Amino acid sequence: MSETSTTKASTAKTGAPRAPAERARLSFDLDVDIAVVGAGLAGLTVALEAAKLGASVAVLEGRHVGWNASGHQLGTVMPGYGLPISDLIARVGFEDTSELWALSKEGAEFVRATATEELIPGIAPSEGALEVSNVDVGDQLISRLQMLGEDFETEVEGWQVDRVRAELNTDHYFHGVYYPKAFQIDGRKYVHGLAALARRAGARIFEDTPVVSIDPSGIRKRIVTPSARLRASHIVLAGNVHLGATLRRLSETLLPVWRYGAVTAPLGERLAETIAFRGSVADSDGIDHFRVVDGDRLMWASPETTWAARPERFAPVIQRRIRTIFPSLGKVEISETWGGAVGQTVHGMPQIGQLRRGLWVASGFGRQGLNTSAMAGQLIARSILWGDERWRLFSPFELVWAGGTTGRIAGHAIGLWGRGSAAAAGALARYRERVRTQERVREARLAEANRQAGTRPPSRRPPPGRPRPERPQPPAPANLGGGEGAS
Ligand SMILES: Cc1cc2nc3c(=O)[nH]c(=O)nc-3n(C[C@H](O)[C@H](O)[C@H](O)COP(=O)(O)OP(=O)(O)OC[C@H]3O[C@@H](n4cnc5c(N)ncnc54)[C@H](O)[C@@H]3O)c2cc1C
Repeated sequence: MSETSTTKASTAKTGAPRAPAERARLSFDLDVDIAVVGAGLAGLTVALEAAKLGASVAVLEGRHVGWNASGHQLGTVMPGYGLPISDLIARVGFEDTSELWALSKEGAEFVRATATEELIPGIAPSEGALEVSNVDVGDQLISRLQMLGEDFETEVEGWQVDRVRAELNTDHYFHGVYYPKAFQIDGRKYVHGLAALARRAGARIFEDTPVVSIDPSGIRKRIVTPSARLRASHIVLAGNVHLGATLRRLSETLLPVWRYGAVTAPLGERLAETIAFRGSVADSDGIDHFRVVDGDRLMWASPETTWAARPERFAPVIQRRIRTIFPSLGKVEISETWGGAVGQTVHGMPQIGQLRRGLWVASGFGRQGLNTSAMAGQLIARSILWGDERWRLFSPFELVWAGGTTGRIAGHAIGLWGRGSAAAAGALARYRERVRTQERVREARLAEANRQAGTRPPSRRPPPGRPRPERPQPPAPANLGGGEGAS
């Protein structure tokens, strides 16, 4: 698999902090309580939490901290999961959905408490995220708001089309759901901040240390790396889609999806005139996700593939997306592109739990990994050290084979189809809106013409039982000829 890269056309303030030139590699045998495979968001949160609770922890990372998705995300922290809440209720019922939802909020709160300027300097937290609809579905929005607000105790506001369009100058979006308690951070700084905090709590992080094989049998489990062995009572597999041959049957339950992002050059005043909203914006079809950064740059993620590609290939695609949604911005210059592979499960929920005694998994966080990986890290550390059993809420979401190469091809086709049908639905919604607007203009013109002519449009038949209103009688024609009956 090719390494996910970042390409810069010029220096952007949003650039990822460079990994230290000297990376500590595991070169001696070691015994610990907990060994974590993978130094992404999930592995580092497990390490931080377990070390804080007093365990001896070693993290083994094949490349370097945050080189994949965890160091290339947009930093939006929302409650919930990639799977829509209605699907979750259909799958596990209302009670369990309610608990799962509460856990997802705890994950977001963990990030909020960790991503502070005191703990991670430069993390730049800011409030509010907006989910916008590509189609005109105001009635569905109301029931969703009721469910989130009343049943799941999540602070949400429904925004009418006018409010959305006052903040985002585009006719592509209709209604919106505003989450005032969602927030965003510098996502790249966060993963390196987590690593620093885990180290400070006592965890040891070894980079350039790929795990070659695992023997999970016995009380003390064994891990082999190229230059050393490690023994641990618990192993946490947080390798996402890159676990590969180490545990082939587990890694084959994830469909790898590469998502690409970019940041524009400074856009000056025209950006503020087009986008007044300062939080994150995502459309409900999961296609575009963006926000304003550094005052006048736009950070945008959208294209996806089911194979690793060079991120710079997608600069023109992102340019086109920006122009399609916000034509008033014109053609924007792209300063930097990047990409990362997320692991998509067949059921859409993350993989969290104990596979066999002492062997844990925290993976499959898809596009929404900040709150969910934080939640997984806390849950697993507390399960191991405190006997917290809430990870069992994830048991209905089994490890389902993602289909291998065929699954990737199907995944790509389904992704294209989903984007195509979302675009078609959006175009239809905008067409209907145009027709409605034209009708309103026509009616207004007709009413004005009638007013000037002193007539009214023909009234509709009154409801049964109601007296028909008296029609005003047209004035009697003037008797120009001086005939009979004229006064
Ligand atoms: C462009 C983009 C934007 C995103 N935006 C957001 C967002 O705004 N909000 C949000 O919530 N989510 C977002 N996400 C999703 C989020 O980034 C991921 O869900 C999350 O980072 C997954 O974390 P992870 O720790 O599971 O995986 P990873 O970051 O992939 O970490 C896994 C690590 O395990 C290591 N590893 C694997 N196998 C081995 C082995 N055998 N030996 C040693 N090490 C191994 C890998 O090298 C890797 O470093 C975005 C993703 C992308 C790509």
